[in-house]
Amino acid sequence: MTKTRYVYGPVRSWRSGTSLGIDPIGEVSTCSFNCAYCQLGKIQEVTTEIKDYVPVADVIQDLRELEAQGQFNYDELDVITFAGSGEPTLAANLGEMIDAIRELYKDRQKQVPISILTNATLLNDPAVRERAARADLISLKLDAPNDQILRSINQPAAGVTMETIKSGIKNLALDCHAGARNDGHCTQLQLQIMIMPKFLADDSYVEDMAALIKELGISKLQINTPTRAKPVSKTGEYWLDTRGNHYGPGQADEIKPDYIEFTELPVISREQAMELEAKLRQLLSDLPELEIINVYK
Ligand code: SF4
Repeated sequence: MTKTRYVYGPVRSWRSGTSLGIDPIGEVSTCSFNCAYCQLGKIQEVTTEIKDYVPVADVIQDLRELEAQGQFNYDELDVITFAGSGEPTLAANLGEMIDAIRELYKDRQKQVPISILTNATLLNDPAVRERAARADLISLKLDAPNDQILRSINQPAAGVTMETIKSGIKNLALDCHAGARNDGHCTQLQLQIMIMPKFLADDSYVEDMAALIKELGISKLQINTPTRAKPVSKTGEYWLDTRGNHYGPGQADEIKPDYIEFTELPVISREQAMELEAKLRQLLSDLPELEIINVYK
């Protein structure tokens, strides 16, 4: 049986450069959301249970072994990203993992920034915020302006509402501005929105999103649109390769297991995305410090 690796990639994108993935969740896809567009497919365990999923020592061992084998070169990385098989902040040992990675590379001349992709559902817990704020950058998923759309796009675990997400993000921003990290660095925060085609025609959706962004006061915003097919498992098994690879139909036929099929998601055109971005920019024009980036130009 092949050994499960908790380090994957590097994944290359024009947005983040060369990113090495760290998976603190492991073999069972586990998240507090089950997003309609999730590249992992249908989430196997939808939960808010915080616990150790993957041993820190295994992540460090993977980093040592995979660099020695030439899978990545630390000095060529632009970022180390915690994402993987679900929601990274479900890992109770996330902070320990971040510290162990910094310790591993502390003598390298270059210090690669560490980032976390999170759905922001657990940030009301001060311990979760403390662990997450040890990263250099936290990207916060924010797809819905209200509970109805949250349920439609993100299908959250019981107990997760827009109210818990909003207050978690606000508390994280307060902690970060207060310098939660004890090395004097301030963790950067950015919002990440996935625009789903079915809400495009709804003006109130864009207006409500703009109002929410204003309310949260985070000064960096990334707009995404679904561009990739969603893997669907015929058996309920999880294909670990989906962590870093964004395969579409025909692109992965040689390595795709038989139990995976790809389903095309409804997409929006670049022009529609630009139009929506223009509307958002106009609605947010009274926030001059807000930086908006997109991934479809
Ligand atoms: S939050 Fe991320 S990992 Fe979780 S279901 Fe959504 S896209 Fe997938």
